[in-house]
Amino acid sequence: MKIFVCVKQIPDPNTVESKLDPATKRLVRTGVSLVLDPGDETTIAAAIKLRDSLGNSELTAISMGPASAQEALRRALAMGVDRAILISDPALAGSDVLGTARTLAAALKRESPDLIFCSTESTDGYTGMVPGAIAELLGLPQLTFAREITVEGSKAVIKRVTQTGYEVVESPLPAVVTIASGSFEAIYPTMKGIMSARKKPFSQLSLSDLGLEPSQVGEAGAREQILSIGKAEARAAGQIIKDEGNAAEIIADFLQRHQLL
Ligand SMILES: Cc1cc2nc3c(=O)[nH]c(=O)nc-3n(C[C@H](O)[C@H](O)[C@H](O)COP(=O)(O)OP(=O)(O)OC[C@H]3O[C@@H](n4cnc5c(N)ncnc54)[C@H](O)[C@@H]3O)c2cc1C
Repeated sequence: MKIFVCVKQIPDPNTVESKLDPATKRLVRTGVSLVLDPGDETTIAAAIKLRDSLGNSELTAISMGPASAQEALRRALAMGVDRAILISDPALAGSDVLGTARTLAAALKRESPDLIFCSTESTDGYTGMVPGAIAELLGLPQLTFAREITVEGSKAVIKRVTQTGYEVVESPLPAVVTIASGSFEAIYPTMKGIMSARKKPFSQLSLSDLGLEPSQVGEAGAREQILSIGKAEARAAGQIIKDEGNAAEIIADFLQRHQLL
């Protein structure tokens, strides 16, 4: 089987305080420590586990990002991924969700994947919309919030996390699957893994390789526009009710006023 995992390099959430450039309103990605999104590490672990259980399968990590994103893909290779593809092009800077998904979908389409893994959302953007957009653009079903995944014949079967437990959901292959965060143990690259990563196939693609025009992606193609950036309002102090025999009445009154009763 041909399995793919979409990954992203982000400012290190453990050491970098995320900043937005007030002029471009984009996340500052230069001059800060960058890492493979920790959420993607779990997704890679899920994909490796499935590849190993299936046998006769290849796992490829794919990312869109500036040249520095090579490092994130090298880490994926060191963890045990077989092959990596980086799509990098100055015209991609400023891509919104649709531009990102369009780029990743174009690269995935060339590869005819059987299964595409994504994290539920990236730790920097948090929209959670890229995986669904990839599925839509490729005309594939999407299975979401998986905490376990198996392949049975020509179907993917997942345990989907719910508020009270899980539900079992299946779809025909090929499909896009998003992995619920924290569902799989992360894999730490060994020295052997790091050394062998250097010899694994690594290809880099530009927009023209994908047959996309600069007007379809990046800032030029973005339909989402960040109009302004503001600080979150500090939470107002709550109201403390001193019980003088009528607290229940005051609380009931408060709830009724806010149409909560
Ligand atoms: C594999 C992958 C998965 C993603 N998943 C999600 C998700 O689940 N949720 C979410 O909110 N966002 C996701 N994104 C990013 C999303 O599409 C938006 O790009 C981002 O949330 C908003 O833009 P920004 O402020 O980070 O802008 P920017 O900093 O301009 O970045 C926009 C995008 O362009 C990329 N980029 C910048 N320069 C280049 C270059 N030279 N070549 C190629 N690419 C470049 C960045 O890595 C980023 O993905 C994903 C991106 C990738 C690559």
